[in-house]
Amino acid sequence: MTRSTIVLLLASLGLSAQARYDLLLKGGHVIDPKNGISKVMDVAVAGGKIARLAADIPAAEAKQVANVAGLYVTPGLIDIHAHVYAGTGERAIAGDQSVYPDGFSFRTGVTTMVDAGSAGWRNFPDFRQRVIDRARTRVLAFLNISGVGMSKGENDPKDMDPAEAVKMARAHADLIVGIKIAHYARPDWLDVDRAVEAGKQLDLPVMVDFGKLAGPRNLPALLTEKLRPGDIYSHCYAGWRDELVDGKVNPAMIAARKRGVIFDLGHGGASFFWFVAVPAFQEKFYPDVISTDLHTGSMNAGMKDQPNVMSKVLNLGVPLKEVIRMSTWNVARVIKRPALGHLDVGAEADITVLALERGRFGFPDSAGAVLTGDRKLVPEMTIRKGAIQWDLNGRAGVDWKVHPYRKPHRLP
Ligand SMILES: [Zn+2]
Repeated sequence: MTRSTIVLLLASLGLSAQARYDLLLKGGHVIDPKNGISKVMDVAVAGGKIARLAADIPAAEAKQVANVAGLYVTPGLIDIHAHVYAGTGERAIAGDQSVYPDGFSFRTGVTTMVDAGSAGWRNFPDFRQRVIDRARTRVLAFLNISGVGMSKGENDPKDMDPAEAVKMARAHADLIVGIKIAHYARPDWLDVDRAVEAGKQLDLPVMVDFGKLAGPRNLPALLTEKLRPGDIYSHCYAGWRDELVDGKVNPAMIAARKRGVIFDLGHGGASFFWFVAVPAFQEKFYPDVISTDLHTGSMNAGMKDQPNVMSKVLNLGVPLKEVIRMSTWNVARVIKRPALGHLDVGAEADITVLALERGRFGFPDSAGAVLTGDRKLVPEMTIRKGAIQWDLNGRAGVDWKVHPYRKPHRLP
């Protein structure tokens, strides 16, 4: 038995003499963009919180040790655009097209999912009770300005009520981080105006899926007149709404970025195309935040999951540290939750461990068109509130030959 095996065995039995930490991630390359950290360090967790970051923390000081050498250790990933209002019984995004958070989040390195308007001010309490309060994943939400959210009756003008939305957002201020509009097709600004009115009263951002261009609805007016700094334009590489003009990024997008409008990748099932993204990235028009627009359609097609979308951005030439920033600290700032998205000592211990694999990988877009890349991020471990929720290769476990198991081996 090697010394480290003995330490691990003792640790697994809770016998470590000076176990001041519950968990120690040893030897990983820590990337914490908020704190400007990008180097090999150990990370110790105690009581569900980040306890210490240092060059060498002795394994004997922790009850459980995971060797993460050769891997990247980052703040828990935050997906700012997901759909997790499952179980309503409807064939809709608020329903069969949503996934339950814990069934998808941790295995993809995500510790916080922000639902993007699947529920509105009428059905948010049902969403909370049925899904959010039962999940281990931290779930936050943009509240749809439509009362019923993304289900039957979405975008009925009579049901888009800023006063009711404000009331509901205040009653659930612990979870609601903004207002959402989506899939609107009428030739007017009713959805945008009502959402921004609610956003103003709440001092929270509005996230926009701009629906269809119709009548006076055009991208320059939305981005330079209607939206406020801090509001979020999602699906920014979709190309459906003049994001690209004559092969160039719409000047309104560049002007909007200067005035503080936020751009969300929002991949989804039909919102990310290489013929839009490649020229935009060549102009260095990068997303502020990277997100999945997770639903059963996108996850089983080109989108797949958050690390896959991050890998696409990485292969378009954005440095890894910036890709991590777009999936952690930038998101926390945009949703005004500065307690999230970093590894400050004392912060809740939401941590993701990623492998950066090198090889030849195909990345299909929403049309099935493929970009070939040479790097791919793979989620190795996911830790939420200090507890391991995903461990792809059993790095925190011990070899079966020395595992104490529970004896006698009987069902409880
Ligand atoms: Zn969406």
